[in-house]
Amino acid sequence: MRRINFIPVLVVSACISTGPAFSEKRYLSSGAHWEFVEKNICEKPDKLLKQRIKIERKQYGKSAQRRPLWAYIIHPRPDTEASLVKNIYLIAAQHGDELNTTRVLEYFLQDLQPLSRSWLNHRRIIIIPLYNPDGYKKHNRLAHDNIDLNRDFATSDAPEGNPKAPETHAFLKLLELYPANRIYNFHQPFRVVLHGPDDEELAKPFAIMSDYPLGQGVGYPTPGSLGIYGREHKISVITVELSRSMRKLMAPFIYEEVRLAIFHAAFGCIPKTALKSTLEKRVSD
Ligand SMILES: [Zn+2]
Repeated sequence: MRRINFIPVLVVSACISTGPAFSEKRYLSSGAHWEFVEKNICEKPDKLLKQRIKIERKQYGKSAQRRPLWAYIIHPRPDTEASLVKNIYLIAAQHGDELNTTRVLEYFLQDLQPLSRSWLNHRRIIIIPLYNPDGYKKHNRLAHDNIDLNRDFATSDAPEGNPKAPETHAFLKLLELYPANRIYNFHQPFRVVLHGPDDEELAKPFAIMSDYPLGQGVGYPTPGSLGIYGREHKISVITVELSRSMRKLMAPFIYEEVRLAIFHAAFGCIPKTALKSTLEKRVSD
């Protein structure tokens, strides 16, 4: 049995001012981890191998300080019936000081490049590696005008006036264009996968593949958060709190913890060609 290395009382929070109070569950010992991974590998015929997967880079808005907001989109197979398309979002750095969330999704984008078009399915995968570029530039949790972008949604518990930030308005427009079925929202530093009351089964594969614990809610009110917005709009939001370190040097190791889980979150299975670790390449980059 592995030691549980997540100790809430010792957390020095970059994410909130008081320690989290969520309960956590673990599903597997490390030994059973690979068994689960193996069950979720998928193979495809390689006839389209030479045609690389296409990733659209779309500017969906501008930040308060006029920085571009980028989404990287893998569209579904062109013959997919529109009603069957599922839009899966992966977003990072709503909080600008959670630097390694962005690096992790940037590594994922790099790892997507060699995949062939045969991996296209009914999903539209929308990756936003840098949700809060103004905060990120200053290593600051908040966006311009001290707005917390994960408290800026117009939810039933939010203060009047939400949404205030152009980043939130732009994201909501993107959600109108591509309504979300599921959103993976990457934060730091608690090393836990958090889900809403009805989404445990959806969140479980991520927890198992990363060997992160699973928790429900965060144990403190988050009015105006994307999680609450999702609950009120029937969108499954899974908040992935990555490991603690914000140092660039540690980013490859944090990515390695969640790499297969991210592939599975995006594609619904792990493309066999993506199984190989890229850790050595990342460390030597
Ligand atoms: Zn955060």
